[in-house]
Amino acid sequence: SVWSAEDEAIIATNTDATECKRCAVELGYWKDEYICYFAKRGERKAPEINRGYYARVRAMEMFIHQFLERCGTKCQIINLGCGFDTLYWRLKDTTQAVSNFIELDFPAVTSKKCHIIKRNKQLLEKICKEDGEVALRGGELHADGYHLLGCDLRCPGEVRRKLAAGGAAGALPTLLLAECVLVYLRPDAADALLRELAAAFPRVVLLVYEQCNLADRFGAVMRDQLAARGVPAPAPATHALAPPQQAARLLALGFDAARAWDMDAVWRALPEDDRARAERLEMLDERELLLQLNRHYALTVATRGALFADLDLNA
Ligand code: SAM
Repeated sequence: SVWSAEDEAIIATNTDATECKRCAVELGYWKDEYICYFAKRGERKAPEINRGYYARVRAMEMFIHQFLERCGTKCQIINLGCGFDTLYWRLKDTTQAVSNFIELDFPAVTSKKCHIIKRNKQLLEKICKEDGEVALRGGELHADGYHLLGCDLRCPGEVRRKLAAGGAAGALPTLLLAECVLVYLRPDAADALLRELAAAFPRVVLLVYEQCNLADRFGAVMRDQLAARGVPAPAPATHALAPPQQAARLLALGFDAARAWDMDAVWRALPEDDRARAERLEMLDERELLLQLNRHYALTVATRGALFADLDLNA
């Protein structure tokens, strides 16, 4: 298929995210035995970046845990714009492996991820079951409980078809992950996607982590940095939004509860021990820079169904 230069730049954001995660893992911020298969050892990132990634991964994890606590493992996770995320493998090593895990990204990304999985026994063995079969074809992977599928999230019909091919079930409690993904979609495309997903899953938790408040001066700098890499500018209509406006947007798209916090609030809500440990790992000279970065990323949690109504930062 044909990719635009902008799509190429979007795809490259995954390489960047994966390298940053590997760097932070090697510095000891959190444990991930699998990230090393997906990224080369890059140069050491700035402490603010490592700290930011730690908060991002911890925040996602906190709500993934709350979701699993409420519905147990008879549920499904759908990872939108999954990139090289390793959550599937990390959950497999706990008692919390879920019934079905579906990952969607551009075919250029899923075929690379497929290739890496195929080449590394440590990854593949968590997918193969003794009697189960793994089907690898056309840059996609189908196994019992794991599906990695190429698709363009801007095309609702394609998303619908791929979710069906991955065995998504409307009746199962569903966790939708969108970690630094929706910001790369035009707002009308992101809205259409979220509206459709909200309608398809009556018991659902959606976690969105991405930039916010991009209309102010620091936000303008962040927008320029994206533009310099050839990534399409985040649409002002959505990414100028402050976190409460982002929550309101998700309510309007069919979720029945939504909350959002900037990452400064999320950071302060993390357990004291975790924060102290992270703070000991690296000296931070640029406190003001970290604060600004944290104010320009938000975590939004939107839910449908009474089961998930009480998800919260301090739950
Ligand atoms: N969620 C992963 C993480 O946080 O590590 C990857 C984040 S990366 C910054 C953004 C990902 O979204 C890329 O892998 C990119 O290919 C994917 N993406 C962006 N727009 C997409 C679209 N229209 N269809 C499918 N994937 C898309």
